[in-house]
Amino acid sequence: MLKGKVAVVTGGTRGIGYSIVKKYLENGAKVVLFGSRQETVDKALSSLKAENGNWKVEGMHPALTNAKEVEKAINEIKEKYGRIDILVNNAGISQSTPLCDYTPEEFDKAIDLNVKALFYAILPTAKIMKEQGGGCIINTSSMVSLIGQSSGVGYPTSKFAVNGLTISLARELGKDHIRVNAVAPGVTRTDMVASLPDEVVKRISMQIPIGRPGEPEEVADAFLFLASDMASYISGEILSVDGATWI
Ligand code: NAD
Repeated sequence: MLKGKVAVVTGGTRGIGYSIVKKYLENGAKVVLFGSRQETVDKALSSLKAENGNWKVEGMHPALTNAKEVEKAINEIKEKYGRIDILVNNAGISQSTPLCDYTPEEFDKAIDLNVKALFYAILPTAKIMKEQGGGCIINTSSMVSLIGQSSGVGYPTSKFAVNGLTISLARELGKDHIRVNAVAPGVTRTDMVASLPDEVVKRISMQIPIGRPGEPEEVADAFLFLASDMASYISGEILSVDGATWI
């Protein structure tokens, strides 16, 4: 579905991002994954190479909250591969601090990584996509971007902003043949959820009409669809992958 396409995936070393990278490689893309440290990048790359030594994948670790570092990394990828077809802004942190225990610094952290870093990656990439005649940007939002969250207000606030950025840029960049969408996962069995005791997962699952948390691969399928030509007329969409939780 993505034969010959060049993709950049932030937060690609584990969880949902790792599944996206794998799914893109399985479907013929060349992928550059971004992680936060060299060790986690190396670990992800060796595990991917162990699955298939022919996959074209490499890793980098620019500081995503530093616009200049991100711009440099994106331009290096363009130099090496000649183009960037798909940008997935997936790296993110969650928060659950009650309001009165929040610090401005903690709130800033959510906004810096979950919102500003997306803008920093999109800026140089959109220029490249415009020049080459098109491309596709997919941001990771969350079901809390639609329903809010009862503590950790920085996190839902940042994901509401992700939706605003997504819909607005879809409108602005449509004429340049750049599609911009977001995927809004519900509770997904990444490291965070996998470490919860069984009874807690059972309790959470009772609030999910489908009756269980999602798997990272199920979320990654939405990223594959949106990046593919099957979604050629879909832009400005926030696609929920949450077992109907928010209803
Ligand atoms: P995860 O913690 O397993 O992965 C997070 C990824 O982001 C990692 O690859 C990590 O390296 C990267 N990252 C974190 N901080 C970083 C930093 N400062 N600089 C660079 N990279 C950094 O979590 P996940 O569940 O796979 O989350 C991925 C995305 O999905 C996030 O945007 C998250 O908000 C969103 N999401 C997750 C869930 C869920 O239930 N797991 C639900 C809704 C949305």
